[in-house]
Order: sequence, then structure tokens, then C-alpha cells
Amino acid sequence: MYVCGVTPYDATHLGHAATYLAFDLIHRVWRDLGHRVDYVQNITDVDDPLLERAARDHQDWRALAARETAVFREDMSFLRVLPPRHHVGAVEAMALIIDMIAELVADGVAYRDDRSPHPDVYFDVDAGGPLGVVSGYETSAMLRLAAQGDGESRHPGRRRVLDPVIWRAHRDGEPAWESALGPGRPGWHVQCSAIARHFLGDRIDLAGGGRDLVFPHHDCSAAHVEALTGARPFAACWTHTGMVGLEGEKMSKSRGNLVLVSSLRARGVDAGAIRLALLDGHYRSDREWTEEHLRRAQRRLDRWRSAMTRPAGPPSGELAAAVRSRLADDLDTPGALAAVDGWADAALGGGDGDRSAPGEVGALVDALLGVAPR
Ligand code: ZN
Repeated sequence: MYVCGVTPYDATHLGHAATYLAFDLIHRVWRDLGHRVDYVQNITDVDDPLLERAARDHQDWRALAARETAVFREDMSFLRVLPPRHHVGAVEAMALIIDMIAELVADGVAYRDDRSPHPDVYFDVDAGGPLGVVSGYETSAMLRLAAQGDGESRHPGRRRVLDPVIWRAHRDGEPAWESALGPGRPGWHVQCSAIARHFLGDRIDLAGGGRDLVFPHHDCSAAHVEALTGARPFAACWTHTGMVGLEGEKMSKSRGNLVLVSSLRARGVDAGAIRLALLDGHYRSDREWTEEHLRRAQRRLDRWRSAMTRPAGPPSGELAAAVRSRLADDLDTPGALAAVDGWADAALGGGDGDRSAPGEVGALVDALLGVAPR
């Protein structure tokens, strides 16, 4: 499983948390089934947004990335997200990224823009495509989106607007690494392609991230690998998570309405309540975050914990089967949570006297939902 990680220039907000919680559940369900899970996640620790933020704040981009990566890891461990087996930054993976770019050029599916004073290297979507395997978008739709996202106006040697940059030639004031194509730094999409392929191979079971990454990021990173291996699709399953809104508005940096995991932590909010508040919605749907959601989740958590620490309760077998069956159905977390509610109601109502049940349910909720039983 390969999941796109953060660009470490800002603290983890609840939209990130919802995404990594969804993949955490997949990780937990697979482990519960007895699979050995190879989970790889990248860190985009060199890219435009990070460099722009560092320049704006007059700080070293490496220090900014190191600090925010540390906060992200603390946030994830606070939320009881099981860590990936490999959590790989682009900077530490630079040699293998450069190797992959060289391989794309050698295979004739990438070219250098030698007509520009900054000879960037592009992936050739005509030679290396098709593009759009992940999104399913028509070329016209991709062209429209690419035109919106293309901030830099002059690329004299770029053959097509859809050709993504894979190696950005050195500009003054930007970090650069030596390569056979000249000094520069890698584009974002190829960072993920190279890290995913290096650690997981030519075909993988699942790749994903937030829904905003479908195009161009996932279409391009899949196309890079597929161009080299000829094996399509690169990932048997692409999984994308919905967005989280705050009090009726989309949560975004530009609106300044981000709810940070670290500020909830500082307020002493229980990680279990955050998990239950986010898992109360389905991972693919857009969800709302309000203080009322959090209060409701805390009440639910309190109720579960009271039930799980009783001396006895209804036998756990039926509940375990229900939770597993709900999660197996495209991660139906609302259904799984409702099943636990039902057991907790019966236990708190004094039903049945199975002395091992509260402990078993605690272990189940811990292993599959990541919620600490006490
Ligand atoms: Zn990625």
C-alpha cells in the first residue's frame, strides 16, 4: 500500500487526519486478516509550496521540513495511526528518484527542454501515456484542469501542456542536486512514482490519498511507472478520501479555518473522540467537522468505555462478526460504530453475563478501529 504523504510546511489539519485514518483502517483490517502489510508513505520534503513558505518566513527550508515532519509524526502517533513500514522523504530518496528520471529519458518517454534558459525535463504523455488511467478523465477535461494549474507561463520547449515536469532545472535561490541532466530538483509526481516502485515493485495492491490528488498527481505518478514497466494499472486499487469541512465551509489554508490536530491535542481532546468523530462519516464522502460532532463522539466514547470496563456483557462473537463485515464493505465505519453502540447499550442495560466479553470487545475496538478501550 502506497499513500501520498504530506508536504511538511504546515501542521496536520483534520482533513489530513481523516485521510490517514482511512488508510489506517485498511492497514488494520488487512493485519486482522493475517496479511503482512507493506505500507509506504512519502514526505514531499522538497517542492514549491515548502520552498515558498520557507522564503516567506525567512527560514531554512530544511529546518521547516524537519520541524513539520516531526509534528506530523507526533500527530499521527497521538491519533494511534499505525506507522508505515517505510516513511520516506524525497531528499533521502534523491538518488533513486534521479535514477528513475534518467530511465524515463533513456526509454524515450521524457525529454529535456533545451530551448529554455532553464532546461527542465518533462514526461512525454504521448510517448509514455495514456494519461488519465486513474481519474478516468477525458483529454479535454485534463487540458482544462492543467491550464488552471499551470502557474508558470513560458515553457518554450514543452511539447504539450499536459506534459508534467519531472526535473526542474536549477534556478537561483532554489536547492539543487547534481544529475546527468544538469543540476535541479525533481517534480512532485515523479517523487511518488520512484519511491513507490522502489519500495513496493512494479505492481502494487493499493495506492491512494486525498481526492484532490486524483489529477494531475495520481494520473501522472501512475503513468511514469506504467511507462517503464508496461504493467497497467500500476495499482490494482486506487482509493481516494473525501474532504473535511468546518462549520459549513471547506477547510482550507486560504480560508484560514483549519482545525489542527496539534491544537486539539493541546486542548486535551481525547484521540479516541477525534477518531470516532471522523469515522462517523464514510471515508469517501465529504464530512463536516463541528464542535458538536466532537462532543457527540466523546459521549459515544465514554459510553463504550463504561461498557468495556463492566464486569460482564453480552458475548462478543456476534459483534466481532458485525464489525468485520461492516469494515469489509468498503470501510462502512458508520455501520461498524453503530454495531458497537448496540453492544454497549446491551452491556450497560445489564444484559448477559459473559465475563470475558468486555475485554474482548475492548481488544476488538482497539485493533480494528484504533480506539483505546480505556
Ligand atoms: Zn504522491
